[in-house]
Amino acid sequence: MTTIDRPELLDAEWESFDDRFQTCRGDRSLKRLYHGTRWAEGPVWVPAGRYLLWSDIPADRVLRWDEITGRTSVFVQPSGNANGHTLDRDGRVLSCEHRNRRVTRFEHDGSTTVIADDFRGKRLNSPNDVVVRSDRSIWFTDPTYGIQSHLEGDRSESEIGTNVYRVDPVTGELAIAVDDFVQPNGLAFSVDERTLYVVDSDSSRGHMRAFSVGDDGALSGGEVFATCTNGIFDGFRVDDEDRIWTSAADGVHCYHPDGTLLGKLYIPEVVANLTFGGARRNQLFITGTTSLYQIHVGARAPQLIG
Ligand code: MG
Repeated sequence: MTTIDRPELLDAEWESFDDRFQTCRGDRSLKRLYHGTRWAEGPVWVPAGRYLLWSDIPADRVLRWDEITGRTSVFVQPSGNANGHTLDRDGRVLSCEHRNRRVTRFEHDGSTTVIADDFRGKRLNSPNDVVVRSDRSIWFTDPTYGIQSHLEGDRSESEIGTNVYRVDPVTGELAIAVDDFVQPNGLAFSVDERTLYVVDSDSSRGHMRAFSVGDDGALSGGEVFATCTNGIFDGFRVDDEDRIWTSAADGVHCYHPDGTLLGKLYIPEVVANLTFGGARRNQLFITGTTSLYQIHVGARAPQLIG
């Protein structure tokens, strides 16, 4: 497989639109850790193992970049055309599988548990991204990208709407959290978990919405928080000061929680997703089409990342 034993160093191109971005922008060099994916997505940092997992969706594999050796290897193949990943509160990896149209969890003993594959007897479309709240509820999005062609799954008719789902932490039961998205995609909670941000990546929308999360897990509100200024938003993460670091066609965009676009990090390829990692949680890992990039930033993830 194509691999890079020593990262390629590129000049990092930052652009600031607001003085508040000065403290959180990062290094002058951008590392390209790996080159050779067809469509890179779904990164998750696994702190106990000091490695990053990410998806190469069309190639039907999940890759693993090891921080200790700097080497990349195959973690899972076939992966069910896996897309988004996250960690739950027990350090287990959750995976959104396009082709198998389900959300699964890798258990500590090596077995796999199906979290969700249908809603009231109707198959899901192609789960895209997933996040776990501290009450252990699991939230995921289910657009149709994985069933539109044979590229990232199996082409098929949708049996169900394009919804955001919540899996109850006690009963495991699935409920529709929101049903008015065209193509729900990346999602993440604010630090206090009282706000859930969800991207609608359909080209007719291209925005991120903010929902208030009630004590019972019910969502309200849902106003547009930000509209992407270049391409569409896909995956994103929230840092420990509630700034939003999101993917876009020209790189990574950083938003203040008040909705201001603070600045950008330009990446030479279309970015689909990113996550924080490393021992201090201040390295940004960026999945950009054919490559995995890494850069230190002046921001870091909340204590629990996923
Ligand atoms: Mg996505």
